[in-house]
Amino acid sequence: MPYIFAIMLSCLLMAYLMEFPLAKLFFYYSAMNAGKSTMLLQSSYNYQERGMATILFTPKIDNRFGVGKIHSRIGLDSEAVPFDAKFNMFDYIAAEQAKIPNLKCVLVDEAQFLTKDQVMQLTDIVDQLDIPVLAYGLRSDFRGEPFEGSLYLLAWADKLSEIKTICHCGRKAIMNMRIDENNRPVRSGAQIEIGGNERYISTCHKHFKSGETR
Ligand SMILES: [Zn+2]
Repeated sequence: MPYIFAIMLSCLLMAYLMEFPLAKLFFYYSAMNAGKSTMLLQSSYNYQERGMATILFTPKIDNRFGVGKIHSRIGLDSEAVPFDAKFNMFDYIAAEQAKIPNLKCVLVDEAQFLTKDQVMQLTDIVDQLDIPVLAYGLRSDFRGEPFEGSLYLLAWADKLSEIKTICHCGRKAIMNMRIDENNRPVRSGAQIEIGGNERYISTCHKHFKSGETR
């Protein structure tokens, strides 16, 4: 008899969780040019299509397509709230939640540019405001060094998912090689240098190390 109660209780709990899923922090990571921004915009659209509001963030430094815009290579665009290192994500979303009761998802593009504090603010949005956060970013820079935002997202996200793309050799590409105008790998310089697709090639680590671009 106690078993039946236990089963009934767990069924009720599952039904409750399906109806009211607990908010989580998701980190979708990949190499360059794997389609992160496209996936972000699609996810945001899926929420909006169901009558739920979303807020999108994009780093101020990425102004290739204008400040406060997310652009995907297949031509999708969206307005986004620009953030820099001083921006408080939690305060912003708490204020917006008061104004937008059906705010159901927060999405962060180029999440590798978050600071450690901002990653913690994203966990507060999940824990205190009960809003899921979807962050999309690169794991490492062109030197193979981790980005601060990704380091803490890898450590703190409830769920990690890889968006896969391939190297010219057919292996999974996980590194981001910066190349100069002669297609030669660049090994040193500032971590943050926003460029178009032509400045970076995603490769496996064998070809990242050898510098072969094709
Ligand atoms: Zn390769």
